[in-house]
Amino acid sequence: ARKFFVGGNWKCNGTSEEVKKIVSTLNQAEVPSEDVVEVVVSPPFVFLPLVKSVLRSDFHVAAQNCWVRKGGAFTGEVSAEMLVNLSIPWVILGHSERRALLNESNDFVGDKVAYALSQGLKVIACVGETLEQRESGSTVAVVAEQTKAIAEKISNWDNVVLAYEPVWAIGTGKVATPAQAQEHISTCFHYVYFTVGRALQNLSIAVVHAELRKWLKDNVSAEVAASTRIIYGGSVNGANCKELAAQPDVDGFLVGGASLKPEFIDIIKSAT
Ligand code: 13P
Repeated sequence: ARKFFVGGNWKCNGTSEEVKKIVSTLNQAEVPSEDVVEVVVSPPFVFLPLVKSVLRSDFHVAAQNCWVRKGGAFTGEVSAEMLVNLSIPWVILGHSERRALLNESNDFVGDKVAYALSQGLKVIACVGETLEQRESGSTVAVVAEQTKAIAEKISNWDNVVLAYEPVWAIGTGKVATPAQAQEHISTCFHYVYFTVGRALQNLSIAVVHAELRKWLKDNVSAEVAASTRIIYGGSVNGANCKELAAQPDVDGFLVGGASLKPEFIDIIKSAT
């Protein structure tokens, strides 16, 4: 069985005081055991050693990025070797914000994933379509292409968690659950229903997750498809996590905004 995975991506947020406060809240929380849910929080690089030193031992840390190859003369970058040196077990790679704002291509993300794995890091690899791509009906093709660029460069998926994060759902409060798509339809103009509402409803999270798993089965192996966790990210919060966690093929979450708040604990608890 695939162990439920809850990641908190803090993005570029926080002061050392705020970070300590978040950790203190997490440390006091009663959550299901490590056998049931794997919890990983991802602070900005500069706070990684601090968070690692004060965070409870059943939670783990992730970097939000690392350099594509061995370190050296790459000003401003942080290498996979450095993360390993500090015993940082996880790294998030291919987040849509880096793909969009820093022009990280599918190929570059594939190289990063392969290099990080080769150094012994575990990787949360992100894929996801833009609203424009979704509306043009290319969601599955886009996430398959992004996954392919990774699959071509790695041979072992044991240390990979695949995060499906539709760009239009990140930080927007929009999530493509069947119920929410319905709600969207009833509160919007007919025009919006046909252009957005219907598209959202037709390709719910469960559908995309199932397609990703099928892609892994057809293009990697049945074993990898069965064992790889496919988690969802995009406006996950304390109120919608239960319904999302119940979707077939959703093996956990990558949480942005809500991971900075106490409701992250409710999201962790949605594992059971
Ligand atoms: P939000 O949860 O803020 O929508 O962000 C999701 C995300 O990008 C996690 O990596």
